[in-house]
Amino acid sequence: MKILTGIPVSPGIAIEQVFLYLEEDFSELPRYSIRKNQVEAEWKRLMTATADAVEEVRALYDQASREMSKEQADIFGAHLMMLEDTAFQDQMKERLQTTLQNIEWVVWSISHELVQKLMGAPDPYLRERAVDISDVSRRLLNRLLSITRVSLANLSQDVILVAHDLLPSDVLVMNKNRVKGIAMDMGSRTCHTAILARAFEIPAVLGLSAITKEINDSEKLIVNGGSGEVTINPDKAARVQYEGAVLQYRKKEDEFLALRDLPAETLDGHRVILKANIEIPEEVEHLARYGAEGIGLYRSEFLLLTSGQATEEERQYRAYRQVLEAAGNLPVTIRTVDSGGDKLLPEFQSPDEKNPLLGWRAIRFSLARPELFKAQLRAILRSGVHGNVQIMFPMISGIEELEQARALLEDAKVECRQKGQPYAEAIEVGTMIEIPSAAMTADILATKSDFFSIGTNDLIQYSLAVDRGNERVGYLAQPTHPGVLRFIKKTIDAAHKQGIPVAMCGELAGDPAVTALLLGLRLDEFSMTASAIPLVKRIIRGVDLESCRTLAAKALECTSYRHVITLMEAWMAERFPAG
Ligand code: PEP
Ligand code: MG
Repeated sequence: MKILTGIPVSPGIAIEQVFLYLEEDFSELPRYSIRKNQVEAEWKRLMTATADAVEEVRALYDQASREMSKEQADIFGAHLMMLEDTAFQDQMKERLQTTLQNIEWVVWSISHELVQKLMGAPDPYLRERAVDISDVSRRLLNRLLSITRVSLANLSQDVILVAHDLLPSDVLVMNKNRVKGIAMDMGSRTCHTAILARAFEIPAVLGLSAITKEINDSEKLIVNGGSGEVTINPDKAARVQYEGAVLQYRKKEDEFLALRDLPAETLDGHRVILKANIEIPEEVEHLARYGAEGIGLYRSEFLLLTSGQATEEERQYRAYRQVLEAAGNLPVTIRTVDSGGDKLLPEFQSPDEKNPLLGWRAIRFSLARPELFKAQLRAILRSGVHGNVQIMFPMISGIEELEQARALLEDAKVECRQKGQPYAEAIEVGTMIEIPSAAMTADILATKSDFFSIGTNDLIQYSLAVDRGNERVGYLAQPTHPGVLRFIKKTIDAAHKQGIPVAMCGELAGDPAVTALLLGLRLDEFSMTASAIPLVKRIIRGVDLESCRTLAAKALECTSYRHVITLMEAWMAERFPAG
């Protein structure tokens, strides 16, 4: 038995046999010279491989069209077009004839060059194509080398999926009824696998470094998506413990679900709003299950991942409309694209950035590309006709950016009018407070905002100068650091003075250990992964605002994060002795 610890990204606990899904290693790709008279035979091999790949992708496209959204099916549509693209084929034929190298090498070298070139292209649409080219060439090489991979769509047994990394297409097609858990070497809380695992409610632990080297196919594995522990070949005691944990998890879930229809109200009647964060439209289904009162953060950049062409206005409009219609009358806050930094869209930042986290990301990117930005704004405005939509700008560092973004929003409205397209004229505009300068100038930003939403993931990163993806300095990322707490307080006080509400949509909002503190600081709205809502609601319903305010006042006097934690733990133990 061996226990490894990684990043818990999707709650739940599961035990099953391992299905080891390893990537093909093309680094040792065979390369050899061929004679002129072998060119025809090599070309034939490629044509056969292409025909097989087309058939495979067409089946995936049909399946995705039936079972998933149009955006997701379109990924495979794009792959089909690429496989059948005659210009791509002509290029390969020419390279084959001129270099007289085996066809595998030709396919690999051309696609490698294309990927490199696309990654450096100024047009984001072209940069998005790089992932598709990699996916398609991998499929062709598999065929040429006769590597047969078991498709994750065809899994016929319950398994824990173990992989080094997974492509979006892997996760989208996998048989979700059979994959009971996911464990991966790579990944973080915000990578696409984490997001999709949460959306599909599959327990997952990522960032395990080398689990693929520690485990063999068919061994047993326990994945605990709550604690981040995975247990390889659990012994009898570990299995008994597992059974207990499952029972406890189910009991807690039942208990929490019973809270679903009760208001998020303190014992002395102070009401706050609990909303969900979503990344893909499918997650809207979880709102009702966990009693979310709307969507406080829709990370629109994930559309780029799942559709590859989401920068087009119509595609975005359709996706937003789908979310708004599914949400009914509940409010939905769509955040404009936040690419760059640690986000999964490296192709959206200039390749030579030395300091991407301080670089060309989020609103900076949008303001530099006004046509792309306005296309997104128009799509949001138009979707507003089908529901209750709000808009929110990420990474605002000062009033100029907010004013520019708002001016472009007005331009987008004019464009909708000119085209005769109905749109939501009175849309509310929110500012994300996630940069220290924004928190410090919250009083100024509040004059031009309808609401604030505090992005603690970035606010912590920038106020403590800690790269949120760097494990070595992770210990410094303390949400209760007095510096962070003061920024939060300053933001909330400034907003309330101006009469606007404050939400929080960073991970901190879903942490029950700090719920009372945030209530005491007078946070109005908490937005989090939907499944975290019941636990937070339980805390809210078990405390009174007055004592939360006293707690917050004491926390603000603490000189270190450790003192704040000790204070909160003692406070919570008194009120929730059973944990
Ligand atoms: C945040 O920074 O807290 C936030 C919610 O935005 P993201 O995690 O998408 O950067
Ligand atoms: Mg952020």
